[in-house]
Amino acid sequence: MAPAYKRILLKVSGEALAGDNSFGIEPPFLQAVAKQIADVARTGVQVAIVVGGGNIFRGMAGAADGTDRVTADLMGMLGTMINALALSNAIMRQGVKSKAFSAATMPSVADTFTAREAKASLEDGLVVVLGGGTGNPFFTTDTAATLRAIELECDVVLKGTKVDGVYSEDPMKNPNATRYDIVSYDDVIGQNLKVMDTAAFALARDNAMPIIVYALNDKEGLAGVLAGKGRSTRVGDPI
Ligand code: UDP
Repeated sequence: MAPAYKRILLKVSGEALAGDNSFGIEPPFLQAVAKQIADVARTGVQVAIVVGGGNIFRGMAGAADGTDRVTADLMGMLGTMINALALSNAIMRQGVKSKAFSAATMPSVADTFTAREAKASLEDGLVVVLGGGTGNPFFTTDTAATLRAIELECDVVLKGTKVDGVYSEDPMKNPNATRYDIVSYDDVIGQNLKVMDTAAFALARDNAMPIIVYALNDKEGLAGVLAGKGRSTRVGDPI
Protein backbone atom coordinates (compact mmCIF):
# COMPACT_ATOMS: atom_id res chain seq x y z
CA MET A 1 0.00 0.00 0.00
CA ALA A 2 1.30 3.47 -0.86
CA PRO A 3 2.17 5.64 2.18
CA ALA A 4 -0.61 8.07 3.17
CA TYR A 5 1.78 11.00 2.98
CA LYS A 6 4.28 11.90 0.27
CA ARG A 7 6.26 14.51 2.24
CA ILE A 8 6.17 15.25 5.96
CA LEU A 9 7.75 17.76 8.29
CA LEU A 10 8.71 16.33 11.64
CA LYS A 11 9.45 18.61 14.58
CA VAL A 12 12.02 17.05 16.93
CA SER A 13 12.38 19.00 20.16
CA GLY A 14 15.70 19.31 21.91
CA GLU A 15 14.35 17.43 24.91
CA ALA A 16 13.68 14.33 22.76
CA LEU A 17 17.46 14.10 22.25
CA ALA A 18 18.34 14.74 25.88
CA GLY A 19 16.48 11.68 27.17
CA ASP A 20 16.35 11.58 30.95
CA ASN A 21 18.70 14.53 31.26
CA SER A 22 17.59 18.10 30.80
CA PHE A 23 20.81 19.10 29.03
CA GLY A 24 22.80 17.85 26.07
CA ILE A 25 22.49 14.87 23.76
CA GLU A 26 22.14 11.30 25.07
CA PRO A 27 23.45 8.94 22.37
CA PRO A 28 20.84 6.15 22.91
CA PHE A 29 17.98 8.67 22.59
CA LEU A 30 19.58 10.27 19.55
CA GLN A 31 19.88 6.87 17.89
CA ALA A 32 16.31 5.90 18.83
CA VAL A 33 14.93 9.07 17.23
CA ALA A 34 17.16 8.55 14.17
CA LYS A 35 15.97 4.95 13.81
CA GLN A 36 12.28 5.96 13.84
CA ILE A 37 13.01 8.56 11.16
CA ALA A 38 15.06 6.14 9.05
CA ASP A 39 12.26 3.53 9.25
CA VAL A 40 9.78 6.07 7.87
CA ALA A 41 12.17 7.28 5.16
CA ARG A 42 12.65 3.68 4.01
CA THR A 43 8.91 3.42 3.29
CA GLY A 44 9.38 6.08 0.60
CA VAL A 45 7.99 9.07 2.52
CA GLN A 46 10.06 12.23 2.04
CA VAL A 47 11.08 13.50 5.49
CA ALA A 48 12.10 17.03 6.47
CA ILE A 49 12.95 17.70 10.10
CA VAL A 50 13.12 20.89 12.13
CA VAL A 51 15.13 20.42 15.32
CA GLY A 52 14.72 22.39 18.52
CA GLY A 53 17.46 23.41 20.90
CA GLY A 54 15.90 23.47 24.34
CA ASN A 55 18.37 20.80 25.49
CA ILE A 56 21.20 23.27 24.89
CA PHE A 57 19.98 26.84 25.28
CA ARG A 58 16.68 28.72 25.35
CA GLY A 59 16.67 32.43 24.52
CA MET A 60 14.02 33.21 27.14
CA ALA A 61 16.17 31.67 29.88
CA GLY A 62 19.24 33.63 28.73
CA ALA A 63 17.21 36.86 28.63
CA ALA A 64 15.90 36.18 32.15
CA ASP A 65 19.52 35.96 33.32
CA GLY A 66 20.33 39.35 31.79
CA THR A 67 21.66 38.54 28.29
CA ASP A 68 19.89 40.73 25.74
CA ARG A 69 17.12 38.77 24.04
CA VAL A 70 18.44 39.04 20.50
CA THR A 71 21.85 37.69 21.53
CA ALA A 72 20.23 34.99 23.67
CA ASP A 73 18.06 33.88 20.73
CA LEU A 74 21.12 33.72 18.46
CA MET A 75 22.69 31.43 21.07
CA GLY A 76 19.50 29.34 21.05
CA MET A 77 19.56 29.07 17.27
CA LEU A 78 23.21 27.95 17.36
CA GLY A 79 22.14 25.25 19.83
CA THR A 80 19.67 23.91 17.28
CA MET A 81 22.53 23.61 14.76
CA ILE A 82 24.43 21.32 17.14
CA ASN A 83 21.33 19.10 17.29
CA ALA A 84 20.86 19.26 13.50
CA LEU A 85 24.40 18.03 12.85
CA ALA A 86 24.05 15.28 15.45
CA LEU A 87 20.68 14.09 14.12
CA SER A 88 21.64 14.20 10.45
CA ASN A 89 24.75 12.15 11.22
CA ALA A 90 22.78 9.66 13.34
CA ILE A 91 20.28 9.17 10.47
CA MET A 92 23.18 8.43 8.11
CA ARG A 93 24.47 5.87 10.60
CA GLN A 94 21.06 4.18 10.25
CA GLY A 95 21.87 3.73 6.56
CA VAL A 96 19.68 6.54 5.19
CA LYS A 97 21.08 9.54 3.27
CA SER A 98 20.68 12.87 5.05
CA LYS A 99 21.78 16.46 4.77
CA ALA A 100 21.74 19.28 7.34
CA PHE A 101 20.80 22.82 6.36
CA SER A 102 21.24 26.00 8.40
CA ALA A 103 18.93 29.02 8.41
CA ALA A 104 21.98 31.21 9.11
CA THR A 105 24.94 31.34 6.74
CA MET A 106 27.78 29.17 8.07
CA PRO A 107 29.20 27.50 4.95
CA SER A 108 31.84 25.42 6.69
CA VAL A 109 29.17 23.91 8.95
CA ALA A 110 26.15 23.24 6.72
CA ASP A 111 24.49 24.35 3.49
CA THR A 112 22.42 27.48 3.87
CA PHE A 113 18.71 26.66 3.74
CA THR A 114 16.78 27.54 0.63
CA ALA A 115 13.45 25.92 -0.12
CA ARG A 116 14.71 25.11 -3.61
CA GLU A 117 17.81 23.22 -2.41
CA ALA A 118 15.97 21.46 0.40
CA LYS A 119 13.22 20.30 -1.96
CA ALA A 120 15.80 19.01 -4.44
CA SER A 121 17.41 16.98 -1.63
CA LEU A 122 14.02 15.60 -0.55
CA GLU A 123 13.26 14.56 -4.12
CA ASP A 124 16.66 12.78 -4.21
CA GLY A 125 15.55 10.75 -1.18
CA LEU A 126 17.64 12.54 1.47
CA VAL A 127 16.23 13.24 4.92
CA VAL A 128 16.78 16.97 5.35
CA VAL A 129 17.50 18.27 8.83
CA LEU A 130 16.87 21.98 9.26
CA GLY A 131 18.75 23.83 12.00
CA GLY A 132 18.76 27.47 13.02
CA GLY A 133 15.00 27.79 13.41
CA THR A 134 13.53 30.54 11.26
CA GLY A 135 16.83 32.45 11.44
CA ASN A 136 15.11 35.23 13.42
CA PRO A 137 14.98 36.01 17.14
CA PHE A 138 11.63 36.02 18.99
CA PHE A 139 10.48 32.90 17.16
CA THR A 140 10.49 29.24 18.17
CA THR A 141 11.33 26.08 16.33
CA ASP A 142 7.59 25.19 16.39
CA THR A 143 6.97 28.22 14.21
CA ALA A 144 10.00 27.24 12.11
CA ALA A 145 8.49 23.77 11.66
CA THR A 146 5.21 25.20 10.37
CA LEU A 147 6.98 27.73 8.14
CA ARG A 148 9.28 25.15 6.58
CA ALA A 149 6.39 22.72 6.07
CA ILE A 150 4.56 25.38 4.08
CA GLU A 151 7.66 26.41 2.13
CA LEU A 152 8.55 22.80 1.29
CA GLU A 153 4.95 21.92 0.41
CA CYS A 154 4.75 19.16 2.99
CA ASP A 155 1.45 17.36 3.55
CA VAL A 156 1.52 17.63 7.33
CA VAL A 157 3.52 18.69 10.41
CA LEU A 158 4.14 15.96 12.99
CA LYS A 159 4.72 17.19 16.52
CA GLY A 160 5.79 14.60 19.08
CA THR A 161 5.06 15.42 22.73
CA LYS A 162 5.00 13.67 26.10
CA VAL A 163 1.28 12.97 25.71
CA ASP A 164 -0.79 11.34 22.96
CA GLY A 165 -2.53 14.39 21.55
CA VAL A 166 -4.22 17.67 22.40
CA TYR A 167 -6.23 17.80 25.63
CA SER A 168 -8.74 20.33 26.97
CA GLU A 169 -6.30 20.98 29.84
CA ASP A 170 -2.82 19.79 30.77
CA PRO A 171 -3.39 16.04 31.35
CA MET A 172 -0.31 15.89 33.60
CA LYS A 173 -2.13 18.27 35.96
CA ASN A 174 -5.76 17.17 35.44
CA PRO A 175 -6.20 13.43 34.73
CA ASN A 176 -9.85 14.11 33.77
CA ALA A 177 -8.88 16.38 30.86
CA THR A 178 -10.58 15.47 27.54
CA ARG A 179 -8.44 14.33 24.61
CA TYR A 180 -9.49 15.45 21.13
CA ASP A 181 -9.19 13.30 17.98
CA ILE A 182 -9.52 16.43 15.87
CA VAL A 183 -9.53 20.08 16.91
CA SER A 184 -9.74 23.28 14.87
CA TYR A 185 -6.97 25.88 14.68
CA ASP A 186 -9.31 28.46 16.22
CA ASP A 187 -10.05 26.20 19.17
CA VAL A 188 -6.38 25.56 19.99
CA ILE A 189 -5.64 29.28 19.68
CA GLY A 190 -8.83 30.46 21.44
CA GLN A 191 -8.50 28.00 24.34
CA ASN A 192 -4.75 28.68 24.52
CA LEU A 193 -3.99 24.94 24.39
CA LYS A 194 -0.25 24.96 24.85
CA VAL A 195 0.95 22.35 22.41
CA MET A 196 2.72 24.74 20.07
CA ASP A 197 2.93 28.50 20.29
CA THR A 198 0.20 30.73 18.91
CA ALA A 199 2.36 32.02 16.04
CA ALA A 200 2.87 28.43 14.83
CA PHE A 201 -0.85 27.64 14.94
CA ALA A 202 -1.83 30.93 13.29
CA LEU A 203 0.61 30.33 10.43
CA ALA A 204 -0.72 26.78 10.04
CA ARG A 205 -4.33 28.03 10.02
CA ASP A 206 -3.67 30.77 7.47
CA ASN A 207 -2.04 28.26 5.13
CA ALA A 208 -4.27 25.24 5.90
CA MET A 209 -1.31 23.16 7.09
CA PRO A 210 -2.54 20.25 9.27
CA ILE A 211 -0.62 19.34 12.43
CA ILE A 212 -0.66 15.88 14.01
CA VAL A 213 0.22 15.78 17.70
CA TYR A 214 1.32 12.34 18.93
CA ALA A 215 3.22 10.76 21.82
CA LEU A 216 6.95 10.45 21.25
CA ASN A 217 6.86 7.13 23.11
CA ASP A 218 3.93 5.75 21.04
CA LYS A 219 4.48 1.99 20.86
CA GLU A 220 3.68 1.97 17.13
CA GLY A 221 6.45 4.52 16.55
CA LEU A 222 6.32 7.32 14.03
CA ALA A 223 5.63 4.90 11.16
CA GLY A 224 2.55 3.64 13.04
CA VAL A 225 1.30 7.15 13.73
CA LEU A 226 1.61 7.97 10.01
CA ALA A 227 -0.36 4.84 9.20
CA GLY A 228 -3.17 6.07 11.48
CA LYS A 229 -2.47 3.54 14.26
CA GLY A 230 -2.29 4.51 17.91
CA ARG A 231 -3.67 7.75 19.30
CA SER A 232 -3.02 11.25 18.08
CA THR A 233 -4.84 14.55 17.52
CA ARG A 234 -5.20 16.24 14.17
CA VAL A 235 -5.23 20.03 14.36
CA GLY A 236 -6.77 21.41 11.19
CA ASP A 237 -9.84 21.95 9.12
CA PRO A 238 -12.37 19.09 9.29
CA ILE A 239 -11.78 16.40 6.62
N1 UDP B 1 15.13 30.32 18.32
C1 UDP B 1 15.01 31.57 17.72
N2 UDP B 1 14.36 31.68 16.53
C2 UDP B 1 13.78 30.61 15.91
C3 UDP B 1 13.87 29.34 16.53
C4 UDP B 1 14.54 29.23 17.75
O1 UDP B 1 15.51 32.57 18.25
O2 UDP B 1 13.22 30.77 14.81
C5 UDP B 1 15.91 30.19 19.58
C6 UDP B 1 15.11 30.57 20.82
O3 UDP B 1 16.01 31.21 21.71
C7 UDP B 1 14.72 29.21 21.38
C8 UDP B 1 15.92 28.35 21.04
O4 UDP B 1 16.33 28.84 19.74
O5 UDP B 1 14.51 29.25 22.78
C9 UDP B 1 15.66 26.89 20.98
O6 UDP B 1 14.49 26.60 20.23
P1 UDP B 1 13.16 25.99 20.92
O7 UDP B 1 12.99 26.59 22.27
O8 UDP B 1 12.04 26.14 19.95
O9 UDP B 1 13.56 24.47 21.06
P2 UDP B 1 12.73 23.20 21.63
O10 UDP B 1 11.90 23.69 22.79
O11 UDP B 1 11.86 22.71 20.53
O12 UDP B 1 13.79 22.20 22.00
